[in-house]
Amino acid sequence: MKAVVWNGPEEMAVEEVPEPAVEPGTVKVRPDAVGICGSEIEGYLGKMGNRTPPLVMGHEFAGTVTEVGEGVDEGLVGRTVAVNPLSSDETCPLCRGGYTNLCPNRKLVGIQSPGGFAEYALAPAHNVYPLPEGVEARTGALAEPLANGVHAVRLGLAGHLVEHAVVVGAGTIGLMCLQAAVLDGIPEVSVVEPHEARREQALKLGARAAYASGEEAREALEEPTEGLGADLVIDAVGAGVTRKMAVEVLLRPGGRVVFVGLHDDETTLGYHGVVRGQLDLQGSYAYTADDYEQALEWLVAGRAGIGDLPPVLPLEEGPGIFAELVKGPSERIKVFLAGSA
Ligand SMILES: [Zn+2]
Repeated sequence: MKAVVWNGPEEMAVEEVPEPAVEPGTVKVRPDAVGICGSEIEGYLGKMGNRTPPLVMGHEFAGTVTEVGEGVDEGLVGRTVAVNPLSSDETCPLCRGGYTNLCPNRKLVGIQSPGGFAEYALAPAHNVYPLPEGVEARTGALAEPLANGVHAVRLGLAGHLVEHAVVVGAGTIGLMCLQAAVLDGIPEVSVVEPHEARREQALKLGARAAYASGEEAREALEEPTEGLGADLVIDAVGAGVTRKMAVEVLLRPGGRVVFVGLHDDETTLGYHGVVRGQLDLQGSYAYTADDYEQALEWLVAGRAGIGDLPPVLPLEEGPGIFAELVKGPSERIKVFLAGSA
């Protein structure tokens, strides 16, 4: 079968690879829509230690079940399913404590096993969710990025009263954090994003306001927060400048910042301000099954999305699109590929 194979930094090609054979407890899926994730762009550059070439990436996907392994309901064959790519051992101390997303034995389809940028992929049967009639694969493929937003927002809200939240970045993950924040009931959610088209998209998807810079957003927070700043900031970019903006410009004393984006590894921050402001610095990684199910429920109900869904492009376009996306944020908020396109 054909697959988009990442062979090392900035080396990617459509290659002929062996078709996966269905195993007990798994289903074989023909991906119908596979989103390219920002972390895969970093991965493509060789900046993600968790990805080892040669690798077929693609962890945001939905598709048609073509075959089921031993012990799996035959009724799944032919169904369009959304795939939660993350599975954990369910038995370790972290899983027992509810932190399945941090399980040391977790596996992600598209990282530890071949992903969706291929004609077929395998997924654990308990990780696939049949979509209702009329809900298409592209919608299902958004459940994974939205689950990241749900997780980040819920970490931001846990034991913390939030009236004013700011999401930094309005790429896919930023837009997902924004919608999760709105749907979870945060009354005032604004966005910082330098690209105008993305700001407009954020406004359409529920942002109360969208600003081109952190300074503008801070200025707008002056009056409603009595000069303090945001209760919660979610950094969906993860660049040194956005982390500094979140902590040093936007956040109020006693506020919480949730770091989701992974653009840069090391960042210099003023820790006197962290200490004296009693700031709460919270990382957020991936999602639990509950987060994924919440995300899928909102998407299926039409309560979240990315606006007009772009077309699904054939796998052959994958290498060229990765090379394009590396150059930086574009107006393409989400690119879908699929072997069936
Ligand atoms: Zn575990």
